Amino acid sequence: MNNNNQNLTQWCEHQERISVELRKEHWKLQIGLPYSKEKIGLLETQSKKHGETFLQHWKKPEVLYWEAVGSISGEKTYQLELKLEELRRTKITSIIAGKAINWPTWRQFAASATDQQRKKVFDEFVEKSKSIAPVIHEKFDKETRIFSDYGLEPLSMYCKDHHMSLTVLQKTVRTLASAIKKPFLKQWNEYSKELFGRKPAYYDDLYVLRNKIFSGIQPPHKKPLAIIQEIRNKQGFGKNNIREDAADRPKKYPSPFCSFIKIPTDIRVSYKAEGSINDVTSVLHEYGHAIHASSIRQELPYWIRYNLNEGLAESFSTLYEDLMHNHEFLTDYLGLSHTVAHDLIKRIHFIRMFAIAFYCANSLFKIDYWKKNLSPAQCDKNYAGHIKECMNVNMPGEYWKLHHILPEAMMYVPSYLLAMIRAAELGRNLQNKHGAWWTSASAGQDLRKIMQDGSESPIADFHAPNTDLLIEDLQEQW
Ligand SMILES: [Zn+2]
Repeated sequence: MNNNNQNLTQWCEHQERISVELRKEHWKLQIGLPYSKEKIGLLETQSKKHGETFLQHWKKPEVLYWEAVGSISGEKTYQLELKLEELRRTKITSIIAGKAINWPTWRQFAASATDQQRKKVFDEFVEKSKSIAPVIHEKFDKETRIFSDYGLEPLSMYCKDHHMSLTVLQKTVRTLASAIKKPFLKQWNEYSKELFGRKPAYYDDLYVLRNKIFSGIQPPHKKPLAIIQEIRNKQGFGKNNIREDAADRPKKYPSPFCSFIKIPTDIRVSYKAEGSINDVTSVLHEYGHAIHASSIRQELPYWIRYNLNEGLAESFSTLYEDLMHNHEFLTDYLGLSHTVAHDLIKRIHFIRMFAIAFYCANSLFKIDYWKKNLSPAQCDKNYAGHIKECMNVNMPGEYWKLHHILPEAMMYVPSYLLAMIRAAELGRNLQNKHGAWWTSASAGQDLRKIMQDGSESPIADFHAPNTDLLIEDLQEQW
């Protein structure tokens, strides 16, 4: 090993130590436990200095160059991130029937609220999104400037990281949006009638629909964590470097999430139970992430272990989540009746189409954001335009600022689409080869083979996504 390589190894070891500590602090913040702003500040400063050291000595590996620039940008923007977190808790608020609702409790509230209450809160939150807008824009502006100082641009980085061209990305999004539009709108009308006795409305967002639509379906007797534990054992992923936080705390982040604190030895899952079938879906999804990260080989270089592009990162979570529309899994494994399973699958396919339409609109917005350098006012207008185009509903354009990913991540959202495409393909292959692959140790082995190589997994390559299988899969219910 020459000197330069040796130093790079040391640089990586230190980088991992700093980022593990940072993720631990953010984990506490996100699960609603006391955390130290001061410690985050100190770590961000260390991380920035360490990033500068990289930039003084190396240009490659390219992903570390990005990461080093990212830590410089992170140090300049983390306070804005924390401010956004706090403003969403304290300013995005409403009082319904004497009860305080804020952004973190919004989704839980929406699941049980009346139509009128939901509309009121939605409209109020849209109005109050003005209070978070400056922070969101300031953060993106700073990021843009810092990245461009180092010759980087978020949209091209995203494409390069996914091994795909912008043309292919745009084509993939447009193909999906137009393939599902007609059946999606038809079914949305039907389900709106069933659930609300009216036509679709802008305040019936994905997070409301995916709760309401399953409200008549009894969750299985098996508990979500027991279901996934059994799958892990049968597939040979039982080794325990995954832990979960299922407590309900008022300040806890509302969406379930998985944190790769240290790959592969410290992986954590957080979720808030909603008491519905969605709990099973969420647990399958987040554990899909966890199983993936905990299967990555410890011996790999730091950047190959950690630099998982977002399409790759979402592929295995989506694969496990997709079990929820597998008839055999639902009946033989979860013990649901054929009738319930059939109804559930129909509803899930509708929600998948809803998600595709929504993510397509979100993706087109994000692409425009970077490509056209949109001003704050243009953002809202552009967003409303894409929602109208993909979902045929008049959504207030400010809504994107109330979403959990759009105001935080530079891109991210197209990855859900890429992962759905990938998971449809993987699920089909596993089923053909192993039958009930969720109980199969040899399927577990096959999965480990494509999980263990970190960023060098063949799953990370999205140069030519094939949308056919996903569309075919959805078509079963058209
Ligand atoms: Zn995910």
